[in-house]
Amino acid sequence: VEVPIHDAVLARAAEFGDIPALIDGTDGTTLTYEQVDRFHRRVAAALAEAGVRKGDVLALHSPNTVAFPTAFYAATRAGATVTTVHPLATADEFAKQLRDSAARWIVTVSPLLNTARRAAELAGGVREIFVCDSATGHRSLIDMLACTAPEPQVAIDPAEDVAALPYSSGTTGIPKGVMLTHRQIATNLAQLHPAVPAGPGDRVLAVLPFFHIYGLTALMNAPLRQGATVVVLSRFDLEQFLAAVQNHRITALYVAPPIVLALAKHPAVAQYDLSSLKYIISAAAPLDARLAAACSQRLGLPLGQAYGMTELSPGTHVVPLDAMGDAPPGTVGKLVAGTEMRIVSLDDPDKDLPSGESGEILIRGPQIMKGYLGRPDATAAMIDPDGWLHTGDVGHVDDAGWLFVVDRVKELIKYKGFQVAPAELEALLLTHPGIADAAVIGRYDADGSEVPHAYVVRQPSAADLTEAEIMMYVAERVAPYKRIRHVTFIVGVPRAASGKILRRRLREST
Ligand code: ATP
Ligand code: MG
Repeated sequence: VEVPIHDAVLARAAEFGDIPALIDGTDGTTLTYEQVDRFHRRVAAALAEAGVRKGDVLALHSPNTVAFPTAFYAATRAGATVTTVHPLATADEFAKQLRDSAARWIVTVSPLLNTARRAAELAGGVREIFVCDSATGHRSLIDMLACTAPEPQVAIDPAEDVAALPYSSGTTGIPKGVMLTHRQIATNLAQLHPAVPAGPGDRVLAVLPFFHIYGLTALMNAPLRQGATVVVLSRFDLEQFLAAVQNHRITALYVAPPIVLALAKHPAVAQYDLSSLKYIISAAAPLDARLAAACSQRLGLPLGQAYGMTELSPGTHVVPLDAMGDAPPGTVGKLVAGTEMRIVSLDDPDKDLPSGESGEILIRGPQIMKGYLGRPDATAAMIDPDGWLHTGDVGHVDDAGWLFVVDRVKELIKYKGFQVAPAELEALLLTHPGIADAAVIGRYDADGSEVPHAYVVRQPSAADLTEAEIMMYVAERVAPYKRIRHVTFIVGVPRAASGKILRRRLREST
């Protein structure tokens, strides 16, 4: 049977009863499955009483907290579409999203209340701001639990109604609102489930943000649907993160490459007991096979990747848990059920490429978004009339069907007719012991050709590492056309919340 996302996720909440659904990793506050189920129904009733109607957009503006899922499912149960907002967004950025999505309601947390108020003023159209915790002058979710109104009975059409409106990361341009229906999100959960099953007794650490589709799926919807326990951290701090893994006996980590880098290289890792971990999954950005292997060896755990994008609800590929030990190094996984893929030539999208050859990844399946909100042209540019979504990513498959992602089409550096993937050079730079972090972009030389330019963060112990030494290190290891031609030393690589390098920020910086 097809049901809305809150019913799909919480279908077994009564059965899971007293099992902790969410634990605050810092102060230990715990919500059981019974509580999440009861609380979200009460809050849904209160939202309906406050005037929330089917189709209204509600902006959920919060770091990861134990109350986040309650707010999310309450809103969808009241019939709203939830647009999740980056908790570090400025009032201007938030106002843009409010305007773009025509949001009528905001749920925030008291430390962010001023930003939310300012954003609502700038955008106009917001009828009420609620807070998750208590704060004077606004209704809080805690007050709403006392609501005695009947549970709203909203007729939701899972195939048509938009449950979530996350914004893409904005890595390549302005973030776009991605309309995901109840069916698309629920279908993708079911597609990913067989690869990485979890259940009561499993504990995942929600360190990636719930507001991004990766966190929303892997750290909220999937574990709660399966009876696992989600330990919540509101921000990433390596020592706090390691302490949480140790103290809460975390069994599975879903992370992005910068955390894999820290796990592989940071000295602090050795001071914690991470023996409860069974596996690690990395997604959201390219992860080099050597780095993955270094992390996996150091911790004595299998590490697999997954691949997806906001527009795909989000997952299409994952390395199944039972294959993690022997999947080929560097693969992002195998296609999930009910989904088709093509690899086509970058020069001619009608030409399918054989296995082993790299081209653009095209996807067709039930998890493809309904469209970009208010951007029919952008939607049409992304999804062709035959239903194939053009991912903008370059990759290839091997004969056994394992996918390897090379980089984004737009990021490829075109050097004298050759194509250079920045991700490959970044991965190589990270193998240098004196390099803590690195990013590569294409820059135009005096003679008009695009060349690889590296931005490097030196290890504190390698403050005297020079541009010449770095260029030499790379030159000894790659074909001549891939050589780094310039190096700029920086103090930190700019990244999106999902862990992706913000190359356009580097491009704008000089
Ligand atoms: P925008 O579309 O706004 O520019 P974005 O594409 O970064 O931002 P997301 O939807 O968060 O927004 O990210 C999807 C992209 O992340 C994919 O298109 C791909 O480039 C990258 N990605 C995801 N998983 C992997 C992976 N395992 N390996 C390499 N790249 C990945
Ligand atoms: Mg994208």
